[in-house]
Amino acid sequence: MSFTMHGVGVSSGIAIGHAHLVSHALLEVAHYEVPEHLVDAEVKRFSEAVGAVRADLETIRRQLPPNAPAELGSFVGTHLMILADKSLAEAPVKIIRDERCNAEWALKQQMNSLVEQFDRIEDEYLRERKFDVVQVVERVIKVLLGHPSQVAFEKQESGMILVAHDLSPADAIQFKQHQFAAFITDVGGVTSHTAILARSLNIPSIVALHRARDLICDGEVIIVDGNQGVVIVNPDKNTLTEYRLRQEQWEIDQQKLKRLKLTKAVTLDGMAIELHANIEIPEDVAQSKAAGATGIGLYRTEFLFMNRRDWPDEDEQFEAYRKVAETMKGLPVTIRTLDLGADKSANPDEERNCTNPALGLRAIRLCLAEPHIFHAQLRAILRASHYGNVKLMIPMLSTIAELRQARQLIERAKRSLRDQGVPFNEHILIGGMIEVPAAALRAEAFARELDFLSIGTNDLIQYTLAIDRTDDTVSHLYDPFNPAVLLLIEMSIRAADKAGKPISVCGEMAGDTRFTRLLLGFGLRQFSMHPTHVLAVKHEVLQSSLSQLQPVVKKILASTDSERIEPLLDKLNQ
Ligand code: PEP
Ligand code: MG
Repeated sequence: MSFTMHGVGVSSGIAIGHAHLVSHALLEVAHYEVPEHLVDAEVKRFSEAVGAVRADLETIRRQLPPNAPAELGSFVGTHLMILADKSLAEAPVKIIRDERCNAEWALKQQMNSLVEQFDRIEDEYLRERKFDVVQVVERVIKVLLGHPSQVAFEKQESGMILVAHDLSPADAIQFKQHQFAAFITDVGGVTSHTAILARSLNIPSIVALHRARDLICDGEVIIVDGNQGVVIVNPDKNTLTEYRLRQEQWEIDQQKLKRLKLTKAVTLDGMAIELHANIEIPEDVAQSKAAGATGIGLYRTEFLFMNRRDWPDEDEQFEAYRKVAETMKGLPVTIRTLDLGADKSANPDEERNCTNPALGLRAIRLCLAEPHIFHAQLRAILRASHYGNVKLMIPMLSTIAELRQARQLIERAKRSLRDQGVPFNEHILIGGMIEVPAAALRAEAFARELDFLSIGTNDLIQYTLAIDRTDDTVSHLYDPFNPAVLLLIEMSIRAADKAGKPISVCGEMAGDTRFTRLLLGFGLRQFSMHPTHVLAVKHEVLQSSLSQLQPVVKKILASTDSERIEPLLDKLNQ
């Protein structure tokens, strides 16, 4: 039966392919068949995961402080015993071999049968031990998910469409290495980091479909229209033909844009505009260069900290940053210090315990609270500054005191390198992000103390309107057209100008062509966006005349509601 679903398109384009259902939620794992020749590899993957969890638990037990409560030690001991028990260490191996299924599935089956046995126990204390079993299984599954099976990779043909309830940014970053035609999820917001990653994958994506994973079956043919936010399941022949034509047209348009790669971004009245790219991992530089970006305006370093059990040390970070600096060959590379927390968590489980992560210990707050982590990163960035045109940028500043504290730590990192004779750029430029209304309102003071500013519109919208950017239940209220948001952006640009400091926009608005002219009209001369948007924004810049923008821009700034602003923007964009 054919049916259509509507969601929020977060990455444009049209894809036609077969559904592949996945889930991030632990214990809600995929089930697939393992071919005979890969069964041994699957068993090995399982045994290695068990070994890794054992090593982890043993480390925890060894490192327990002498004054730790005795129950803690026995708790870890219980988990080690459960892990070593045949029912968990060996029974799943038999299931993998007998049923030729993936390790996660085998483990989940075995856990279900153990939980059932526990449920039948009369004694309450013993019955409660089933939670320990579940926790141990969760640990093993987590490791397995971080090391996907060969079968999972083999299954990834290019026409595959990922259907998930939700994907964390940590999940999505893994997909950068693999070929999917599209992805769709039940939940998520337009500027959630998962959506941002979807755009950087350059594949059509739709979030907030609500029941996609319930209604779509594995293997069904689906059309994903990221432009309209529409998913068509089991389309009929005519619909398929129509969408194949649309898909071709879309691809032709993209090819045409590619011709602009080497064209300078200059307005009709001769103003040169800088178009930079946002990246998450060093490998994204290739895509940025292919799009003709003239710098990296935002390197989201936190992605190096995800999907791993140990955090990268200074040397590992330095190598990643140096690679980007060197590959950009003297073009600016703005490395943002860690913006972990909220939806970008290195440990999503811990994050869930936090009452309100977006308002919690995130970004610079976390770095100031954990100075040893910050110190290692600062040293790594400073060391990389010797190998290219590196700038350092601090996210989520809300007070000048925070900025001064961060600057002291930067000085300390510089001193430590100086003392060791390690080369770095003594005059490295230090910038800060305007993402919190408090910072936008005091942008001039921030501009005076910094070398440059960059407006993170994704968070600025979230914090100005009190709308969680990841929550699809309020995504209709997440409104970049809101006059308060526009005013804060314009004020920040004006403040930076007044202080004589460069300012850019590096949130999603910078890559949205609906806002290009408005931002130009506000006085913005530097945009940073996902590489996939650079050429479309350039196309817009080439057709814009600054002198003609002012009257409409003034009207937009004077408007008090979004509904009036949208038609004015249409007029500006004509
Ligand atoms: C922003 O908030 O606009 C921004 C660029 O930072 P991030 O999306 O990584 O939070
Ligand atoms: Mg941000």
